[in-house]
Amino acid sequence: MIYLKNYINGELIEPLKKQYLENVDPSKGTVFSMIPDSDASDVQLAVAAAKDAEHDWANMHYEKRAQYIEAIAKGIERRLDEFAKAESLDNGKPLKLATRVDIPRAVSNFRFFATAIQQQSSESHYMEGIGINYTLRRPIGVVACISPWNLPLYLFSWKIAPALATGNCVIAKPSEVTPYTAYLLSEVCIEVGLPKGVLNIVHGLGQKVGDEISRNKDIKAISFTGGTATGKTIASIAAPMFKKLSLELGGKNPNIIFADCDFDEMIKTTVRSSFENQGQICLCGSRIFVERSIYDKFKNTFVEKVKALKIGDPNTDVNIGAIVSKNHYEKILSYIEIAKQEGGTILTGGHAVKLEGECANGYFIAPTVIEGLAYDCRTNMEEIFGPVVTIMPFDTEEEVLKYANATEYGLAATIWTNNLTRAHRMAENVQSGIIWINTWLLRDLRTPFGGMKNSGVGREGGWEAVRFFTEAKNVCIKY
Ligand code: NDP
Repeated sequence: MIYLKNYINGELIEPLKKQYLENVDPSKGTVFSMIPDSDASDVQLAVAAAKDAEHDWANMHYEKRAQYIEAIAKGIERRLDEFAKAESLDNGKPLKLATRVDIPRAVSNFRFFATAIQQQSSESHYMEGIGINYTLRRPIGVVACISPWNLPLYLFSWKIAPALATGNCVIAKPSEVTPYTAYLLSEVCIEVGLPKGVLNIVHGLGQKVGDEISRNKDIKAISFTGGTATGKTIASIAAPMFKKLSLELGGKNPNIIFADCDFDEMIKTTVRSSFENQGQICLCGSRIFVERSIYDKFKNTFVEKVKALKIGDPNTDVNIGAIVSKNHYEKILSYIEIAKQEGGTILTGGHAVKLEGECANGYFIAPTVIEGLAYDCRTNMEEIFGPVVTIMPFDTEEEVLKYANATEYGLAATIWTNNLTRAHRMAENVQSGIIWINTWLLRDLRTPFGGMKNSGVGREGGWEAVRFFTEAKNVCIKY
C-alpha cells in the first residue's frame, strides 16, 4: 500500500495527527493508496514554512525563479509515463488521454509561466511636463491554490505555475479524490531543489484543509477551481477577510449546431466534446441544440458514433474509462433517473456498465444521449458533469439564444456554422466566458480563461493570471 505524504517546508512528511484517508482506484473499486487526512494544524505548518520562504523567493531574480519552474516542467516531462499512469489510476481516465493531454498540458503550464515571467513588463503613465506614474507589480505573499479531481495535475499546475512564477509562496490542495500526481509533483520539486517552503502541498478534505485555507489570515489570495456551491462557501469565508479570490466554477455548456456547418467535422468533435474524460471536463458541451433541418441526420449519426465508443479498463485502448468515484457515479445515475422522470427518451446509454475481470467492481456508465426534454427542466439546468448529454432541435437564432442563455452558468459554448456574420453575432450574444467556433478545447495559454454568471469570478490564463497573483502599486513621481 502506498502512503502519500504532505510536502511541507521542502520535505515529505506525515500529517501531524497521523490520520489517513483511503484512495480508491475507480476502475476497480479498490483502495490502492492512503492519503494524509490533514487538518488545520498541517495547513498552519505549511503557512509558517511559506512565510519563512516568502522574502527570498519574492526577491529572487526572475531568471532564477524561471529556471526553477522550467526545471519542474522538465522533471515532469522526464517521468511522463509514470505521471500519466498515476493520473489514470487515480481518476479512471483512459491512460492514452492522460498521456496525450493531461500530463503534457501540465508541463506546458509550468513552461509557459517560466517564459511569461521573463517577458513581463509593467505600465507607465506619463503626465505631460509634470511627472510620471509607473506600476510596480509585486507578489502578494502567501497564496493558496485549490483544485478539483477532473483534470488533477493539469488544473493544479495551471494555478501553481503562475503563482510561483510571480514570486508568491504557495499552499496547494489537490482534490482528496485524485491526489497522486500532486504527490509526484512534490517529488519533482525536491529533485530540482526548489527552495524550502516555496511550494507546500497539503492533502486532505475540503472541509478541513480547504476550510483552514479559506480562514487562515496569512493566506492573502485563493485561486479555486471546483463546484459553484464550494466556491460560494469559500467566498463567504474569505471575502469578508478581503482576500483576493479567483473562482473557476461549474458549467452547463451549450453546443449550438447550425445546418450550414461542416457536418463531419462537427460530428467528430461533438462526440469528443460530449464524452471526453467521461464528460467530466468543465468545458464539455452537455446541452446540444441542433437546427431542425439537420436534426434527424444529426441524431442518427451522433447516436451511431456514440454507440461505437469503447468503454472499459482505462489501461487499455478505450474511449471511455471509469467515473472518478462511487459518489459521483451515483450522482450521475440519479440524474439519468431525473431525466426519465422529466419525460426524456434515452437514445443510447442510460445505465451503468458492468465489466468482467479486474474491473468488475469499477464505476462505469455508458455514454448517454437523451432527447425530448424541455430546455428549462432540471436535467438541462443543473450540472451533471458526466457522460450524459441532451439533444434538442431549434428553428431560429433567437430561439436557440434563449435556450443557450437559460442556465445560471456561463462557462463555455461551442457554435458550429460557416456563416461568418452569424458566428460573430452568436459569439457576442451567448453568455459564456469562452466561445469556440467550429472547434472545441483548442487552447492558447495566453488567452483569458473563466466563466460568466455563476461559473466564476475573475479570469486566469496568460497575463490575467500574472495580474491576479500580483499587487499593482502605482508610484507617482513629480519633477
Ligand atoms: P468541489 O467543489 O467539490 O472540490 C474542488 C476542490 O475544493 C477540492 O479540492 C475540494 O476538496 C475542495 N473543497 C471542498 N469543500 C471545500 C471547502 N469547504 N473549502 C475549501 N475547499 C473545499 O469540485 P469537484 O472536485 O467535485 O470538481 C468538479 C467541479 O469543478 C465541477 O463543478 C466542475 O464544473 C468544476 N470545474 C470547473 C472548472 C473551471 O475552469 N471553471 C474546471 C474544472 C472543473 P475535496 O476533494 O477534498 O472535497
